[in-house]
Amino acid sequence: MSYFSQMQTFTAVFLAALALTVGLRLWLARRHIRHIARCRDNVPADFSVHIGLAAHQKAADYSTAKTHLGMIDLAVGALLLLALTLGGALQALHDTWLRVFDAGSYAQGIALIVSVALISGLIDLPLSLYRTFVIEARFGFNKMTLKLFFADLVKQTLLGAALGLPLLFCVLWLMRWMGEQWWLYVWVTWMVFSLLVLTVYPILILPMFNKFTPLENGDLKSGIEALLAKCGFRAKGLYVMDSSRRSSHGNAYFTGFGAAKRIVLFDTLIARLAPAEIEAVLAHELGHFRHHHVWKRVAVQFAVSLVFLWLLGYVMNQDWFYAGLNVQARSTALALTLFFLVVPVFTFLLHPLTSLYSRKHEYEAEAYAARHAIPANLIHALVKLYQDNAATLTPDPLYSAFYDSHPPALLRIARLKRAVAPGQSQPA
Ligand SMILES: [Zn+2]
Repeated sequence: MSYFSQMQTFTAVFLAALALTVGLRLWLARRHIRHIARCRDNVPADFSVHIGLAAHQKAADYSTAKTHLGMIDLAVGALLLLALTLGGALQALHDTWLRVFDAGSYAQGIALIVSVALISGLIDLPLSLYRTFVIEARFGFNKMTLKLFFADLVKQTLLGAALGLPLLFCVLWLMRWMGEQWWLYVWVTWMVFSLLVLTVYPILILPMFNKFTPLENGDLKSGIEALLAKCGFRAKGLYVMDSSRRSSHGNAYFTGFGAAKRIVLFDTLIARLAPAEIEAVLAHELGHFRHHHVWKRVAVQFAVSLVFLWLLGYVMNQDWFYAGLNVQARSTALALTLFFLVVPVFTFLLHPLTSLYSRKHEYEAEAYAARHAIPANLIHALVKLYQDNAATLTPDPLYSAFYDSHPPALLRIARLKRAVAPGQSQPA
């Protein structure tokens, strides 16, 4: 194929993939909204004892509002992508920074990437404000003040710069000096960086945003300690996080590895669930730990990033890659930016696979919880959490297959009920 037709072919393939992804996502969102509307007047039988019609309808309206906003977000993102690529904005940004910094300098490359990140952040800002102060507030979940919202934003931006800029410099340096095999060096750098962030995240980063206080002595603490002993699990500490400053959604998790393992309970969870129910939720989290889910996920991410870095190494040497996206100049920073802008357009169809993988882990954790805690307590906890988070019990099945990291509530509870069914051996 001639250069010109290669370039035109790539433009056509990009536009077709973008249309397919955006079209598919909008179609899924509409299906989801319609499905929820059809189920709005009936609480699913398994839940009718625990969840009233009003709570069910609140969950339906909340999910619908979030899905509508997601559709707007999607359209805005697609327009921004088109403006940056075919619209010529990326080339214009490149030219603008050339007037300030030397061609091909690190400063020019970093300025280009940072400006693209800032522009998309600024465009996201109104949607993010709307999500927090209109949707979350309307359904009674938002506890955030405008001041806290912007304080978080400033901190996140500074943190992103402190972590991202040295990494970016390092990557651009390796791409320039490591020859044809640069992608292998970048891959190793990326792995080291990710593991470092994973290590310091609970100790240094989370405390910038939340306060952690040791869990007070009492029924809850002794119950949790008994559970940990039964599961053969040693944690470095039991903490309560003040998540109620931002939102009333409840959760529990634990972070860190090796000697730095710590268990964190949201204060909103403690306020809402009985100690035995919190233990059941924690048993689920311990299941994730016992099955090494974090490490399995990290391993998959590393394997996938190796493939993508190799691919970046290939396309950045192809003229059609730049020209097909309406970029005339050539630089490593441009290649990097273009690549990370357009890759999601081509990978959305793989989304159901990652969701499936995540749901497999959830089932494993749930089975572990059913063996180590009392399943009925986990059922009660789940019902309360679904109600408090106003998560819809009736997602569209196809939408759920694409997006849901957790199995639908009805399936989760059905499985747990089988675990408490008479005739089966009860967990010790
Ligand atoms: Zn889980």
